[in-house]
Amino acid sequence: MATDFGFKLSPSSTINMDRVDTTAFDTLVSMEPDVMKCISCGSCTATCTAGRFYDIGLRKVILYLQRGMEKEAVGMLRHCMLCGKCTMVCPRGLNTRHIILSISKIYKDIEQ
Ligand code: SF4
Ligand code: SF4
Repeated sequence: MATDFGFKLSPSSTINMDRVDTTAFDTLVSMEPDVMKCISCGSCTATCTAGRFYDIGLRKVILYLQRGMEKEAVGMLRHCMLCGKCTMVCPRGLNTRHIILSISKIYKDIEQ
């Protein structure tokens, strides 16, 4: 019988990057090299027009893609209106709208 210590250990959320298939992300980088300039500052997420209504933010999308979580990333971008506000605030000068369009081209076969 397990002893109750009054607390539980959560399962590890560590991501083993050696096991992540980054083929699709590498394709994105070859099409949009600027994506590597992202510093995860979150300005795009803070100003996202759709972010007021949905869980969406380019910062998170890029992180998801780097971690091989393509379904989550593509599902998030479903709500993007291509308004371009994120492009205006990005301190690294990323053409975020272009990146979003490239992502939707590369990952178009992924079920949403
Ligand atoms: S282009 Fe898309 S991700 Fe960027 S601010 Fe507009 S709705 Fe948000
Ligand atoms: S604003 Fe630009 S640098 Fe900051 S998280 Fe978004 S894409 Fe990356």
